Amino acid sequence: MVDDHLRRLARKLRSAGLDAAWEPEIADRELYRRSWLEKRTILTMKKSLWAPRLYLLRSQNVLAQFRGVMETFDLDPFAVPFTRCVLCNVLHEEVDREDVAATVPGNAYGLHLHFRRCPRCEKVFWRGSHTERTLRFFEEATGRERPERFR
Ligand SMILES: [Zn+2]
Repeated sequence: MVDDHLRRLARKLRSAGLDAAWEPEIADRELYRRSWLEKRTILTMKKSLWAPRLYLLRSQNVLAQFRGVMETFDLDPFAVPFTRCVLCNVLHEEVDREDVAATVPGNAYGLHLHFRRCPRCEKVFWRGSHTERTLRFFEEATGRERPERFR
């Protein structure tokens, strides 16, 4: 359960395929309620918050924040990356290439064979330049090289 001031961190966690709930301008009470109901750990920078499952981030820097979360919770960003919608936090589904021909820009469509789509917002995803940037971010955060399948 990512606090509202940590939107960038939430998106990076979702890029790594991790379930990161985030809502704009969520009230502290609602943050507590949802984390309790859905058994989520709260990630926040607000020192005034307290909950049994809460991780207090100290850095403003998204790379340092991400690294802290990976190390503290023993997570691997290379395990299931690019499986979740960064906007909705919902798992993507694989789609037939023909089904997205009208939605995907021609150059991307020509270059890629595999596409995934968010069942909620219907945004289509493929392995493009944003994927490369994210993999580099994961490498920097973990100090490890990406696994063979992402080279
Ligand atoms: Zn979506």
